[in-house]
Amino acid sequence: MLRDEPTLTPLAGCTDLYVALNFGTLKDTRFLDLWRLDRLRKIELRGGALSIGALATFTDLIRSTLVRKRLPMLAAAARDVGGVQIQNRGTIGGNVANASPAGDTLPVLAAADAVVVLQQAGGIRRVPFDGFYTGYRQTVRRPGELIVGIEIPPVRGRQFFRKVGTRAAQAISKIVMAGILGPATGSGRTARIALGSVAPTVVRVPRTEAALASGASIEAVQRTLMEEIAPIDDLRSTAEYRRRVAANLLARFVCGASRG
Ligand SMILES: Cc1cc2nc3c(=O)[nH]c(=O)nc-3n(C[C@H](O)[C@H](O)[C@H](O)COP(=O)(O)OP(=O)(O)OC[C@H]3O[C@@H](n4cnc5c(N)ncnc54)[C@H](O)[C@@H]3O)c2cc1C
Repeated sequence: MLRDEPTLTPLAGCTDLYVALNFGTLKDTRFLDLWRLDRLRKIELRGGALSIGALATFTDLIRSTLVRKRLPMLAAAARDVGGVQIQNRGTIGGNVANASPAGDTLPVLAAADAVVVLQQAGGIRRVPFDGFYTGYRQTVRRPGELIVGIEIPPVRGRQFFRKVGTRAAQAISKIVMAGILGPATGSGRTARIALGSVAPTVVRVPRTEAALASGASIEAVQRTLMEEIAPIDDLRSTAEYRRRVAANLLARFVCGASRG
């Protein structure tokens, strides 16, 4: 159907689409309902990678023993999404496709070096997460392509996820951070950190990661992070608040990890 009519709008849990419909901001009026494609709901190990079907809901992620074991920060992110009703309907594919800089699973997938699996009638392609977003709510997904899954290679090290919003449920993040801190070795340690709600897209912070890996003091790493991100003032928060909270989350992540 997408080959014949590439402008059809895919519809999964509809939790973002319905809001857009209500606000009258949705241009397209013809939809392709994916909800019954149960094959796109599987969560399994494939070739060593954790493979999550695009239609896996947040509830599926929370309940999955594989996700809890391999990528507990994704289960933590799913638990913080909306409320139970949204968790039952909202999908990981919808979260990724919707491309909001505040999407809660996005920093997790960015920090974990996930790969987005896209399929169209002609075949499949895999896009590394750091090349998927091209700007505010823009992705490399072509008309006629579906996100069919997300693949996450094995992750080594301590994982961290924290969302800061106005309240514990039904709140869009003011700032959201995910991180992975590798075990300390003679040559240092690897660090992967991603943040949402601080830029037009989810971002990795390579300078902060390098500072952490080099063994710099936490104060120095916090300063690097505050310089590296460029949040804005908007109706949910201020740039200054976001910078400070990001630095605090980083300290919590790193200091917690060094105790573990
Ligand atoms: C009350 C409320 C609270 C919310 N709270 C949060 C929150 O705390 N954190 C958060 O991150 N989000 C939140 N959201 C947003 C939303 O629930 C998530 O982004 C969710 O993951 C969207 O998934 P969906 O399946 O409902 O997507 P849909 O609404 O069905 O689709 C969203 C977009 O993705 C496209 N799409 C969907 N699936 C695919 C696919 N497989 N391939 C290609 N394109 C696709 C659609 O065409 C559409 O453009 C909230 C929404 C509401 C209404």
